Amino acid sequence: MTLKIAVDIDGVLADQVAAVLKEIEREYGLVYSKSDVDRAHWTFEGRQIWEEISRLLSDPKYVMQVPIIDGSQWAIERLAHHDLFVVTARRPFTEEATRRWLNAHFPSLKGYYWARTGTKHNIPSDVLIDDLDINIVEFVKSDPDRHGILFQHPWSLNGTDIEEYSSQVSYCPEWESVVKAVDSINRSRQ
Ligand SMILES: [Mg+2]
Repeated sequence: MTLKIAVDIDGVLADQVAAVLKEIEREYGLVYSKSDVDRAHWTFEGRQIWEEISRLLSDPKYVMQVPIIDGSQWAIERLAHHDLFVVTARRPFTEEATRRWLNAHFPSLKGYYWARTGTKHNIPSDVLIDDLDINIVEFVKSDPDRHGILFQHPWSLNGTDIEEYSSQVSYCPEWESVVKAVDSINRSRQ
């Protein structure tokens, strides 16, 4: 069976936090690691990480050099028999550069949807792979047949009631376990 699978970009395909931490070191001389970034609205010295990311994403050169998440290319190939597309909260002004980045690293991913954080459930799909509990909870809550895959990072859990939906949620810290989770979701639907 073919599943419709929505794949988030930042934190799932693109190692955005690694890229922004490098810029924070360069611009402000402050050194942080990913484990310091322990929530979606993480701040450093009064600055919001997401505002920094949004500012940096307005530069197409920055967008193009953001590294990919380990294992993501292998996994997207493994999942290519499904209907895969991206859904991102990146602001529309970054879309052109983001599409170029996608085309360079994930040429098979053609579908592209923009949805604000917390509204990704409005995009028609059976499965959402995302690194924020906020998106996963809204998605599984919207339909009992939907399944969310939380791509786990130190910032993934933000005090939502995600544990209330455990039968619809898989927790995956890397892509190999995402591929396994998709296989088991697919088997359970046959
Ligand atoms: Mg994300």
